[in-house]
Amino acid sequence: MAELAQVVVDVPTMQTNQPYTYLVPAPLEKQLQVGMRVAVPFGNGHRQVQGFVVGFSEHANYDGELKPIAAVMDLQPVVNTELLDLSKWLADTTYSFWISCLYTMLPNMLKSKTQRFVQVVDEVDEQTYFDLFGGKDECDLAELQGDPAKVKQLLKLQRAKKVEIDYRVTDRAHAKTVTGITPLLNFEQLEDARTSLHPNAHAQNRLLSYLQSIVGQTVKQTTAEQQAQLRAATFNQGAKKGWLKKVPVEVYRNPYAQPIDDDHLEQPLPLNPDQERVVQAVDQAIDGQWSQTFLLQGVTGSGKTEVYLQTIARALDKGQTALMLVPEISLTPQIVNRVRRRFGSQVAVLHSGLSNGERYDEWRRINSGDARVVVGARSAVFAPLDNIGVIILDEEHETSYKQDDMPRYHAREVAKWRSRFHHAPLILGSATPSLESRARALKGVYQLLRLPHRVNQQPLPPIEVVDMRPEVQRRGESNFSTKLLEELDRRLQRHEQSILMLNRRGFSSFMMCRDCGEVLKCPNCDISLTLHLDTRTMKCHYCGHEEPIPQVCPNCHSRHIRYYGTGTEKVEQELHQLLPAARIIRMDVDTTRRKGMHEKLLRQFGHQQADILLGTQMIAKGLDFPNVTLVGVLNADTGLGLPDFRASEHTFDLLSQVSGRAGRANKQGQVIIQTFNPGHYAIKDAQAHDYERFFRHEMELRHQAGYPPYYYTVRLMASHPEEAQAARAMTSIHQQLVANLAPSTIILGPTPRAIARMKRRYYYQIVIKYKYDPHLHDLLQQILQETQRKEFKDVQVSIDPDPQYFM
Ligand code: ADP
Ligand code: ZN
Ligand code: ZN
Repeated sequence: MAELAQVVVDVPTMQTNQPYTYLVPAPLEKQLQVGMRVAVPFGNGHRQVQGFVVGFSEHANYDGELKPIAAVMDLQPVVNTELLDLSKWLADTTYSFWISCLYTMLPNMLKSKTQRFVQVVDEVDEQTYFDLFGGKDECDLAELQGDPAKVKQLLKLQRAKKVEIDYRVTDRAHAKTVTGITPLLNFEQLEDARTSLHPNAHAQNRLLSYLQSIVGQTVKQTTAEQQAQLRAATFNQGAKKGWLKKVPVEVYRNPYAQPIDDDHLEQPLPLNPDQERVVQAVDQAIDGQWSQTFLLQGVTGSGKTEVYLQTIARALDKGQTALMLVPEISLTPQIVNRVRRRFGSQVAVLHSGLSNGERYDEWRRINSGDARVVVGARSAVFAPLDNIGVIILDEEHETSYKQDDMPRYHAREVAKWRSRFHHAPLILGSATPSLESRARALKGVYQLLRLPHRVNQQPLPPIEVVDMRPEVQRRGESNFSTKLLEELDRRLQRHEQSILMLNRRGFSSFMMCRDCGEVLKCPNCDISLTLHLDTRTMKCHYCGHEEPIPQVCPNCHSRHIRYYGTGTEKVEQELHQLLPAARIIRMDVDTTRRKGMHEKLLRQFGHQQADILLGTQMIAKGLDFPNVTLVGVLNADTGLGLPDFRASEHTFDLLSQVSGRAGRANKQGQVIIQTFNPGHYAIKDAQAHDYERFFRHEMELRHQAGYPPYYYTVRLMASHPEEAQAARAMTSIHQQLVANLAPSTIILGPTPRAIARMKRRYYYQIVIKYKYDPHLHDLLQQILQETQRKEFKDVQVSIDPDPQYFM
C-alpha cells in the first residue's frame, strides 16, 4: 500500500486544524519528508494551495477519493521536528489555526504566493482573445482585476465555460547569488597554457598563475579581481579560452553596518561578586541540563547584559547554541554590536528592520548551523537553533512579547516550552518584573536571582516629581514646568546632555471645536484622528485613514477649532522658543521610519551633536550615554486613565526604565517627572525606586479586583460590519459558556469594546476570569472551530488567552 501524507493546508476562508490526507505520487516518495512544504489540489476545480507535510500514514481519515500531492516545494524540511511539535502546541494553547502557527515560525520569504491564471479552454472570438489574453492561452488574473470592463468580459466567458481559473503556488524564496569563478584545468594544464602565451600578454599570464593558486576552489569574481589585480574583461577572456568557468555562488545578504573581525573579539569583563553568584547559578543549570527558569531582577545598569553574555559563552563552550530575546524597541545597534563584538560572525540578528531577503538569509544561517547565537525580537523565539544551551528573555515584563494577532502567543511561554524541550535554563531578566513572574518567583516556581546594585556604584538618580496643576494655573498651558526648564538650561551651560520623554500611551493630539465640542473622528473607526504636522494631515492610527486638517468645524462651521494634546513635534517647537540655543534631536515613529535613521540619530546624539534627545517611549530603554545627566518625563500619567488593569504597572515600569538612562557613567544623574497625579502610588513608588512596595500595593489591588496573577483571563471578541451581527454572535457564545463552565468562573459581557468600531467593523467582547476550569480549554477550541462554519459567515471571532489589556 502506498504511503499517504498528512498535510496541513492553507485555506484562509475555511480553517481547520485537522490535516488532510493526500496520495504521495511514486516519483515523490523518496524525497518527501515531514516538515516540507507542498502544493496540493484543494476543493473542486483547479485550485492549488500550499500546505505542510506533518506526518505519514497508511490509512486515510477520509472516505472519498484521495488526490495526489501536486509538487514538493523544498529540498529539505523547513520545519524540524521540534518546531513541528511546538506549532501543534501553539495552535492548541493559543486557540489558533495550525497553519498560522507554522507560518509565524518561518521567514516571510517562505510564505509562498498563490497566483491565479485564467486559462482559455474553449474557442473564443479573436477580438476577445487579443483584448484579454494578448494572444496567449493564459494570463495572470491579478493583471485583469484592475479593469472592470475586462472582469465583466471574463465572467461572461467563465459562465460559458470557455475559461477556467487555475491556482498555482509559486515559491518566493530566492537565495541571493553572485558570480564565482572556478578553474577548469589542473595545475599542469594551466602551466602549459602559460608557457605558450605571447610574452606581452601580461594580464593573461597573471590570470593563469592566479588560477593555479585556486585549483579546486570557487572564488567570488569580485574577490578574484581584487586578489589577482585584474579586470573583469580578463576573466571573460579566460572563460572563452576554456581556462575557467563562471558559476553562481550563494551568498548571504549582510544586514550589518559594521564589519566584525572574528580574530579580535572583546573579552568578558571580570565579574563583581553579585554577578559572579548569578552566573554560577545559571552555569550550573547549563552544565546539569536543567530546564530551570530563573528570574533575574536587577536594577538598570546592574550588569545584567554582561551576565547574559557570559552564560551564552558557557553554552557555546559546551558546543551548544544560545537564544537571546529583547523587545523590538530595545534592539538597538548598541546592544546588537555588544553581542557581535563578543561572539563575532556566529551571531545572527532578527528584527523588523531587516528586508525579507536579509531575514531569510539570517534564518538560513541559523538553520544550517552557521549562526550559533541568535539575538532577536519576539518572533526570534522560533529561530531554528539546534541543541540550545541557554535561553534569555530580557525585559521580560514588556508587553511587546505578546503578539496581538493570531497566533496570540507570548514569547515567554514559547521560551519555556523550548527550555523544557532542550533541557536548557531560561533567564527572565528585568529591573521591574511583571507581577506574574515575580509572584511565581515568590512561590518558588522560578528561581529568583538579584543584582541589587549598579555596577558603577552610583546610586540610582534622585527623582523629583513636579505637580503640573499649579504650574498650568500660574503660567498657562505649557509642556514645561519652571523647574524642568531651569535644569535643562543648567545642562546647556555645563555642556551635559538631557533626554526628554513624551509618554504617548493613551495619548494623542486630537482636534476639538471650542464652540460645539465636536472631535474629529475617523470615518471607519470609533477613535479620534491624530494631528500630524509633518504631512499637515489628520491620520487614524488604526486604519491609516488620512484627511487634510480642517479650517472650520465640520459640525457647526465655527472657526474656533483647536488642537488638544501634544505631539513630539509641538513639544519640539515650544522647546525651540523657550531654549533657542538648544540643539534638539527628535525621535519618534515619524523621524525613524526610514531605514537606518534610528541608528543615525542615536549616533549623532552619542557624538554630542545635540544637547537634548526628545522622544517617545522608544528612548526609554537600553540607551547608555555617559554624558546624559538629566532625564525629564513630560507627562507621566497619561497612561493611568486607560481602561487597562495593567495601567499602573506600565506607568511604574516606564518611569523606572527612563530614570535608568541618567547618570550611567561617573556623573551624578537627575530625573524630573511632571504629572497631574503626584499622589498616585505608581508615581510615588517609582520616585522612591521601590519595586517591592509597588509590587505589594499592586498585588493587593489585583487580588481585590480579581485580576492576574490571581485569576487567569481569556478574552473573546467578535466583529462584524453590522453591530447587531457582532452582538448576536457574542450572545450565542455567551450562552454556550454559561451552560458549560464551572460555577466559580466569572464571565463578563458581552459588551462593546472600549474602541467599539475599528476599520469599519463593530467589536463585542467577553472576558472570562477563572482559577481552574477543566472544561474551558476544550470548549474554546470547539467554539473556534464552529466559527469557521457557514452560519458565522463574515463574523470574525478571536480568542485571546491572557490578554495584555481589555481595551
Ligand atoms: P544592565 O543590562 O543591567 O542595564 P549592563 O550590563 O548594560 O547593565 O551594565 C551597565 C554598564 O556596566 C555597561 O557599560 C557595562 O559594560 C558595565 N559593566 C557590566 N558589568 C561590569 C563588570 N563586571 N565590570 C565592569 N563594568 C561592567
Ligand atoms: Zn463645532
Ligand atoms: Zn480609522
